[in-house]
Amino acid sequence: MVVARAFGKSSADARKREMERLAALEQLDLLDAPRDEGFDRIVRLIKQIFAIDIGLVSLIDAHRQWYQACSGLTADEVPREDTFCRYVVDYEEPVIVQDATKDPRFAQHPAVTGDSHIRFYAGVPLTTKAGHIIGTVCAIDRRPRSFGARDLAILEELAGAAMDRIELLQSAATDSLTEALTRRAFKQEADQLISLAIRHQHNLSTIVLDIDRFKSVNDTHGHAAGDQVLRAVAATCKANLRAGDLFGRLGGEEFCIVLPHIDREGAAAVAEKMRAAISAQPIQGDFGALTVTASFGISSMSIITKDIETLLAQADAAMYHAKNSGRDRCVSWNSIRSEGSAGARRRVLKAGSILFNDRRSTIDCTIKSLGADSAGLSVSNSAGIPPEFILAIKGEGFETTCRVIAQDRQNLEVAF
Ligand code: GH3
Ligand code: MG
Ligand code: MG
Repeated sequence: MVVARAFGKSSADARKREMERLAALEQLDLLDAPRDEGFDRIVRLIKQIFAIDIGLVSLIDAHRQWYQACSGLTADEVPREDTFCRYVVDYEEPVIVQDATKDPRFAQHPAVTGDSHIRFYAGVPLTTKAGHIIGTVCAIDRRPRSFGARDLAILEELAGAAMDRIELLQSAATDSLTEALTRRAFKQEADQLISLAIRHQHNLSTIVLDIDRFKSVNDTHGHAAGDQVLRAVAATCKANLRAGDLFGRLGGEEFCIVLPHIDREGAAAVAEKMRAAISAQPIQGDFGALTVTASFGISSMSIITKDIETLLAQADAAMYHAKNSGRDRCVSWNSIRSEGSAGARRRVLKAGSILFNDRRSTIDCTIKSLGADSAGLSVSNSAGIPPEFILAIKGEGFETTCRVIAQDRQNLEVAF
């Protein structure tokens, strides 16, 4: 029945629903946010209540499923097309697979045929009050099993608890691990500082920094050590800031700063001081002593750039340049303008396609920032994407040729 309903929807209608869904997800600004004990607890409950191997709370953007909390799997995210959960979003209702080897949709799936040995899947939608499905809450097992109406009701309750947690986090001002401002609180306070700067005609700059190869810290020393590194880096940053500056956590190991009264050169000097301090200071813990580095991007307010979203998008683009040119360095947005991405950028969340090889090859992407002459994209794996390709925004009839100006494993900065 479910399948018939899904096919019954016109594709234009489905596209519109998807655009609205992504807009709701963008509004909540949750993707790549720090881990949170509240979601971890929900995942633990899923495992305990159903006595199964894997519990998940996930968000699904245009090209991937990102795990807000996960127990029993090692990945942080997977390409959307490879997931069981995409069916929950497409059908807009729970999906229960008692034995994946007997379900034609999943029997040949690598997670079923391969080492993961997935057999059972139950996923329910994570639905906002306005009715948009932004992700899933699921119970997964390596043995086939049944799942009755009562089990389903419990899983739906847990999805409700996850949504309550999302709403609660919207009002939190600081991040519990690092005591940095949350993304939302940071932006609100930044808006106020920008208004003041405009009114009194003073300078203002932003810095975005991302710890280099942080994944290997987690992989080598464990998650607790990773957390300790995050706290230490945040403390080093704060020690180099003044009382009136803003310090926020944009995501896992990415931080942001607003410096009122500071121009571009001044901001570059602050970033350089922080960079040097981080790389010079060994972090002590159970794991011994560990040194990390970070890459910095800097942008400053100007006549055309005077909102926090644009400043962050520009600093972010500059930060990717710093990553691309070797990490452990600072790059200013204005210094990369000559490479063809000069204009203002908006942060967005749009479904895109990367087309190359005479349109024979297509890769799904999420467009994360967009300007008149450039964009920031995120993909599951940037390997194999050529230096020039066509970028299309799904459902908007937008297509343009673009050139890659910086990239890492999952992010591409492109100029049109
Ligand atoms: P790059 O130099 O390109 O930035 O590489 P990277 O390894 O730092 O970047 P990547 O984005 O691949 O990995 C970031 C990792 O940070 C992945 C994720 O599991 C981890 N992470 C995110 N939030 C937290 C957290 O709160 N605590 C810990 N310990 N790890 C986190
Ligand atoms: Mg990093
Ligand atoms: Mg990062």
